[in-house]
Amino acid sequence: MLSPRLSLSRHGPSFSRIVAGMWRLADWNLSLAERIRLIEQCIELGVTTFDHADIYGDYQCQQLFGAALQQAPALKQQIQLVSKCGIKLTSSHRLEHRIKHYDTSAAHILASTERTLAELQVETLDLLLIHRPDPLMDYDEMARAFETLRAAGKVRHFGVSNFTPLQFEALNSRIELVTNQVEFSPLQLSALQDGQFDTLQRHGVAPMIWSALGGGLLFRHNDTSPLQAVLAQLAAQYGSSVASLVYAWIMQLPCRPLPLTGSGRIEVIRDAVAACSLSLERQDWYRILQAACGHEVA
Ligand code: NAP
Repeated sequence: MLSPRLSLSRHGPSFSRIVAGMWRLADWNLSLAERIRLIEQCIELGVTTFDHADIYGDYQCQQLFGAALQQAPALKQQIQLVSKCGIKLTSSHRLEHRIKHYDTSAAHILASTERTLAELQVETLDLLLIHRPDPLMDYDEMARAFETLRAAGKVRHFGVSNFTPLQFEALNSRIELVTNQVEFSPLQLSALQDGQFDTLQRHGVAPMIWSALGGGLLFRHNDTSPLQAVLAQLAAQYGSSVASLVYAWIMQLPCRPLPLTGSGRIEVIRDAVAACSLSLERQDWYRILQAACGHEVA
């Protein structure tokens, strides 16, 4: 049985082991009351950490979430908020962007964070991530921007997302990072193979995992997939759903990953929480890895 909360690093924040991802919030077409109810149901399940980014839902998701917090302000004391910056989309909401690009300048990090706080209707973010590595990123400048935000009481902790191990090391040597949020699932194994998880384990830093269910691809009907067959077989053996099995498989890694959910359906979030009580026998864990790789792994 995994603890329902986890400290991301030695001095890092304490987050719920399962984090609710809000990327698709605008697609769920929830009324204000339904958004409040979803947040409440997550909290009832122990899922108290919510993952955002300035760009989600074409810059609209944070406002949708913030409207719920404004309507039910008592929720603010019960949750932890993560957001990201560093990507600039072309959008009717950002007419000044002529091309989709990265911006990790201090000016953009500070401006994006101010806007995020206003949209989410909070004074402080628990964690701010640089969304993706930027070829023009200046690690000293980024670290200074982080220090400025911390000193102003606007952000408590900092991290990165989709950084290579070397990029993580470069920024972490200047300011303490508490996570690298990366893609990982049986359909995307790179972090296990390119030193990402080893680097994070070396630093005692827990990764956050996006698209843990392959963005839904794991469920796309495909009778011929050996991976889907193995997952279905093992789910039946453990008496769990396929989603729970996959979340449990991920959380069994010793780098202590925190999976992000991607669904607005509370039953999927419940499946993720159920995975905290599911421990796979070592050989079954390897059956999933072997099916994911398509060949023997030892
Ligand atoms: P995911 O859980 O892999 O994918 C979610 C999709 O899977 C949804 O379309 C969902 O459909 C479907 N799904 C989930 N359970 C299912 C089931 N049991 N049966 C059938 N379909 C199922 O996660 P994700 O949305 O790709 O990513 C999760 C979070 O990670 C995002 O919300 C965001 O916060 C974060 N993220 C971060 C980055 C980054 O670069 N840092 C990138 C992408 C995402 P339904 O909606 O119908 O349930």
